[in-house]
Amino acid sequence: MAIRRAQVSIDRLRRRGEGRKTKAIPADETSCPRCGSQFGADELRRNHRVCGACGHHFRVGGRERLDQLAGFRDWDELWPDMRAADPLRFTDLEPYVRRVEKAEGKGIGEALIAGDLEIDKVPCIAAAMDFGYLGGSMGSVVGEKLLRCCDRAVERRVPFVVVTASGGARMQEGVLALMQMTKTIVGFEVLHDAGVPAIVVLAHPTTGGVWASFAALGDITYAEPEALISFSGPRVIEQTTREKLAPDFGLSETQLANGQVDAVVDRRELNERIGRSMSILSRDASAGPAPAVAWARDRAGQAARALPGFSRKFLSRVRREEGEEV
Ligand SMILES: [Zn+2]
Repeated sequence: MAIRRAQVSIDRLRRRGEGRKTKAIPADETSCPRCGSQFGADELRRNHRVCGACGHHFRVGGRERLDQLAGFRDWDELWPDMRAADPLRFTDLEPYVRRVEKAEGKGIGEALIAGDLEIDKVPCIAAAMDFGYLGGSMGSVVGEKLLRCCDRAVERRVPFVVVTASGGARMQEGVLALMQMTKTIVGFEVLHDAGVPAIVVLAHPTTGGVWASFAALGDITYAEPEALISFSGPRVIEQTTREKLAPDFGLSETQLANGQVDAVVDRRELNERIGRSMSILSRDASAGPAPAVAWARDRAGQAARALPGFSRKFLSRVRREEGEEV
C-alpha cells in the first residue's frame, strides 16, 4: 500500500486562515485593561485617565495632557499649523503622506503639542507627545517645535515642561528624523546655559531616539508608574539576544532603582509636584536661600554649638580658612 505524503504548506494554511474572524477583543477605551473596572468617559477624564480602582494609567493624548497640566483651564496652543514635508517621498506599506493624513483624521496635528500655560499657578511653556500620531515618533516638526519651546522659555525666563510618549525617531523621515536628536539636545543645552529649569515627565512608552536625546536631559526627570523607558523595547532585545529578560525590564520603577529617574509619580499628583519643583528651581537668588537650604544651615549651626569646645575651635578655624564668616 502506497504511503500518502502529507502536503503541509504554511503559506497555504495562512491563506486558508485569511478572512476568518478572529476572536473579538473589546476595544472599549473606558474599561480598565488590568482590573476590568468600567468608567464613564467624563469620570475617566476628570480622574486624569487613571483607574480609580487599581491605579492603572491609561494612555493620554497630547492636548488632553496639556489640559490636565493646566488644571483643565484654558491654555494657548503654539504653532498648531506646523506640518511635515515629505522630501524623501517615502513609501513603505503605504506612502508617508497617506499615513500623515490618517493621523490627522483623528484630529491630532502632530506628535508634539505645545502651549503657553500655568501648572499649579506657575507660568511655563509645556509640550506633550501624542502616541496616537504615528506612535509619537519624532520627525522634523517635533524637533522644530521642541527647539522653539526651549527658545521661548529662555526669552520669557519661564520653565519648560515636556511629557514624552514615543516610539523614537520617525522612520519615514530617515536621516532628517535622526537629526532632530541633535537639534533637541541643543535646545536643552540652551536652557541649561540660560539657567532656565527643564522638567521632563516620561510616560509610557519612552523609547528609541527620544530617550536617547532630550528626554534624558531634564533638570528633574519624573516618570509615570509602570511606563516602559528603554532605548530598545524588551521584545526586540529578546529577539536579538535570544535571552529572556526580567519582567520588570525597562519599567520606570526599575529605572528609578538604576538612578535614571528622579521619582515615579502618580499622574494625579503630577501638577503639584511639577509646580513645587518649578517654584524651587526658578527661585530668584536675591530672595535668599530656599527653605530647605535655610533649614539645613540652621541645623548645621545647632549641631556645631553642641560640639565640645576643642571641636568648635577647630571648626571655626576651618571655616575661617575657607573665607566664611564665623
Ligand atoms: Zn483598574
